[in-house]
Amino acid sequence: MKPPSSSKTDTDTGLIELLRVVRQTYPNRDISLIEKAYQFSEALHQGQQRSSGESYIQHPVAVATILAELRLDTATIVTGLLHDTVEDTHATREEIITHFGAEIGNLVDGVTKISQISFQTSEEKQADNFRKMILAMAQDIRVILVKLADRLHNMRTLQFLKPDKQMRIAQETLDIYAPLANRLGLSAIKRELEDLSLRFTHPEIYYKLVSHISKKAKEREQYTHDLQTLIETALKDQGYPNARVSGRPKHFYSIHKKMERRNLSFDQIYDITGFRVIVSTIEECYGVLGVIHSIWTPVPGRFKDYIAIPKANFYQSLHTTVIGPDGEKIEIQIRTQEMHDMAERGIAAHWAYKEGKAITKETEKFNWLNRLVEWNRDLSEPNEFLETVKLDLFSEDVYVFTPQGKVLEFPKGATPLDFAFAIHTELGNKCIGAKVNNRMVPLKYRLKSGDTVEVLTSPNQQPNKDWLKLVKTSRARNKIRAFIKAEEHETSKATGELILEKELKREDLRVKKMIQDGTLDEIAKDLSFRSSDDLLSSIGYGKISVRKVLNKIIPKETEAAPTKEVPQSALQRIFEEAKKKEQPASVKVKGIDDLLVRFARCCAPVPGDPVVGFITRGRGISVHSRKCPKVFQTDPHRLVEIEWDKSTKQDRRVKIRVVCSDRPGLLADMSNAIKEQNINITRAQIGTTKDKKAVCHFTIEIKDTSELRRLLSHLEAVPGVILAERVQRKEID
Ligand code: MN
Repeated sequence: MKPPSSSKTDTDTGLIELLRVVRQTYPNRDISLIEKAYQFSEALHQGQQRSSGESYIQHPVAVATILAELRLDTATIVTGLLHDTVEDTHATREEIITHFGAEIGNLVDGVTKISQISFQTSEEKQADNFRKMILAMAQDIRVILVKLADRLHNMRTLQFLKPDKQMRIAQETLDIYAPLANRLGLSAIKRELEDLSLRFTHPEIYYKLVSHISKKAKEREQYTHDLQTLIETALKDQGYPNARVSGRPKHFYSIHKKMERRNLSFDQIYDITGFRVIVSTIEECYGVLGVIHSIWTPVPGRFKDYIAIPKANFYQSLHTTVIGPDGEKIEIQIRTQEMHDMAERGIAAHWAYKEGKAITKETEKFNWLNRLVEWNRDLSEPNEFLETVKLDLFSEDVYVFTPQGKVLEFPKGATPLDFAFAIHTELGNKCIGAKVNNRMVPLKYRLKSGDTVEVLTSPNQQPNKDWLKLVKTSRARNKIRAFIKAEEHETSKATGELILEKELKREDLRVKKMIQDGTLDEIAKDLSFRSSDDLLSSIGYGKISVRKVLNKIIPKETEAAPTKEVPQSALQRIFEEAKKKEQPASVKVKGIDDLLVRFARCCAPVPGDPVVGFITRGRGISVHSRKCPKVFQTDPHRLVEIEWDKSTKQDRRVKIRVVCSDRPGLLADMSNAIKEQNINITRAQIGTTKDKKAVCHFTIEIKDTSELRRLLSHLEAVPGVILAERVQRKEID
């Protein structure tokens, strides 16, 4: 830390002004930390320049001065001085914590994070989401106050930037920061941000307004002065000698908006001045209102009591519009000094420095909430109240980006699946994971505000019941349920058909034929089902026994056509027929078209493994290795013969384990050995054992067992590898 320089350079004048404001607002404040932060920041920014040509330290000092003018606590002012050090110099968060403590370290960190969010669109809804996101991301509201002060000073010095940058920053200020300042009740800052933005987004309008209003102001000076005297005298006569009356010029941006809204020309703008009366107590506010209404006629519908019913951003005041002596409308606001303070500084007034009292975040948050709850009783708009509470709790929502920079809002705990379904149903159905901020994450990853999410899909993916536990949005939940329901219906139907076919073969009857000629529909209706489809799916699902259905069919059919003896088992015939057909699936379920098959997770069979199918209730056929213990626990009637279809090549995932001596470069050698075989690795996990061996688990995609065997021997040839084997959860040899 270098000692304060004895010569007063131009950079030090900034510090002198800052300390003057600090002493003026709180004469007894200990300024040593502020001085220390100044020295620290100045040393770090040494040699850096702003576009204006001034030394960089002028900017953080100006930001700190704005914060001091808002009468904020020392930690916030110090953060103002340090706010660009982590982003723009070599300083780290840890260094800030070492020198200034965790509270300031976290504040600086918060400001740095918000500065890194980029705003790419000015769409209204998007802007709203960005504002919410900023609130949600900031763990401490003081972070936002520093960010607003930072933006205000940048806007005050915007003329030094290139025109395209001026335009972009001014528009962003209008979209994001001015409304944010308004939301937090910082109306003085809001007005200045809006006027400065107007100057750069619509310079012609801005300068026309400036010259017009200054000219008009001169013309109207006498009029304004007369009115002010008139109000003061009336109030004095009626017993309010201490009421302070002032003319209140409207800010340019609000005049511009009013002109736009009502399609007015410059000459039609009269009410560029309003009046404000400041008194000591709430009773006096209403008393003054009575006096004003007794002198001039109030305009109906223009009286607003924001004292009884404050705005959600804490604003309190009485508003009225009366018909003045020349027949024109005069707007008057009446409030106490405390309310005025709140109106100008909003939440900053709430967070003001309190001498000798430590303000913990918790107590402040608690007070803030208490006030909200109190006001809830009076608030006329419950939505507005909820909105405020939502933002104030730093939000139960997270805000994430699409790769195109669009912001989407999700409830806390939402996962990549919620994100995928929010964009498109098919994207959700095929989602296998996501890249968040360019890193792979699993489906169960919880999204965080500020994440950029890119959905990864696979054509083989489909929703399953486990997904319901992962999602938070009702949209995703409904889409998954709808898929499962449709799928269950289809597979139950196919399973039902298979079961019925198996039985009917003995009678030499064909289900397909019975569907075609309508017989099955009749039987379905007899059994109170809507259609043969419903009947088959109920058989498949096990809602109705196949015996019951057969009892309906067989007496009927035997009358019509006497049965022949069936020499082969029914299943055998199904298999035979299947051999003639070609199926696109990687396994052939003999005799059944388009039946949904899934591969059992317990034994994860791959092409080449001897397999057998198991007719599940409602979930189609699951394919198991013949060695899988489940096969032996299963009702043999539900087993079907299946075989791998050699004509289709679909990669299957398989887990392998490689045990090796722990040496540098071994992992790379193994991955290369796998890649050399043109095999895709989808997952790798490495662990070491106590005896210095490494155990690696790879999930790979292979075509069949022969490819797997080739790979394993290839791996075992890598120097250092002790053993390479396939992992199956359970197996009977
Ligand atoms: Mn800055």
